[in-house]
Amino acid sequence: MKKLRLTVASVAIGMLALSGCGQGGTPESSGDGDKAEAPEYSVATGVDLKDSKTWQKAKDAGEITIGVKKDQPGLGNVSAGSKEPEGFDIEIAKMVAAHLGFEPDQIKYTETVSANREPFLQQGNVDMVVATYTINDERKKVVDFAGPYYVAGQDLLVAEDSDIAGPDDLDGKKVCSVDGSTPAQNIEDKYTKAELVTYDAYSKCVTDLQSGSVDAVTTDDAILRGYAKQYEGEFKVVGKPFTEEPYGVGLPKGDDALRDAVNDALEEGMDNGDWKKAFEYTLGSTDGVDMPKVDRY
Ligand code: GLU
Repeated sequence: MKKLRLTVASVAIGMLALSGCGQGGTPESSGDGDKAEAPEYSVATGVDLKDSKTWQKAKDAGEITIGVKKDQPGLGNVSAGSKEPEGFDIEIAKMVAAHLGFEPDQIKYTETVSANREPFLQQGNVDMVVATYTINDERKKVVDFAGPYYVAGQDLLVAEDSDIAGPDDLDGKKVCSVDGSTPAQNIEDKYTKAELVTYDAYSKCVTDLQSGSVDAVTTDDAILRGYAKQYEGEFKVVGKPFTEEPYGVGLPKGDDALRDAVNDALEEGMDNGDWKKAFEYTLGSTDGVDMPKVDRY
């Protein structure tokens, strides 16, 4: 079956579609009323990572540039009326930056979409990427990863009354995902009877789902839960993840000193309770959520 591929360069439409909405999270999250306190990460003093070119450049500039998503509620999102991104990835970014000796106001957030994460790291536009970024061998050819700090799984977002119950029900259906993402690749490789529609950002897929021009949106369950929460009663997450998506902090290839330091930061945060606080503040309860083990490859 012919695949429909649409590519749209700007994320503006999707961002507009999300305006007026608050911060997302899992359906289990406690909600704004009894929301957990914003965590604070103690900023390390006297850090000297002189073997890291990336760190040295950021130190000299007085700021560290981190690529993040800005339209994924609960993970990396800028809500209406706010300039600051918020979400679990943003907390991980702050936690890591603090370990490297950067205050929160020394972080410059640059928007990355799925397809430009590798080129942004390769070209030095960003010092690191914390953006629902799956660690895999293909990507490791051109960038490095610290982590994982979370393991998500590919899932489907559908209308509340849809009878799509898994990827095998996508035959002849339109499913939307994002260029340069692992879920889009997976649909292309394994679910060839689905009609794949792609944009540069998931919020645009959600707009299409709302208008009925696609039947499903596919990406990581963690991302989809954020949208389902925003559109409660309208959309549901199928809830049967069919891949593993270990999230890593993307780093310029070959900066081993930086990779070690970021792995240290993640391990320390998992040990001292900061990771848990970050999760509870953004995604909700950690009940049933496994804290992954950092893989120092
Ligand atoms: N985790 C997947 C990936 O890195 C999907 C989410 C995303 O596109 O950011 O491709």
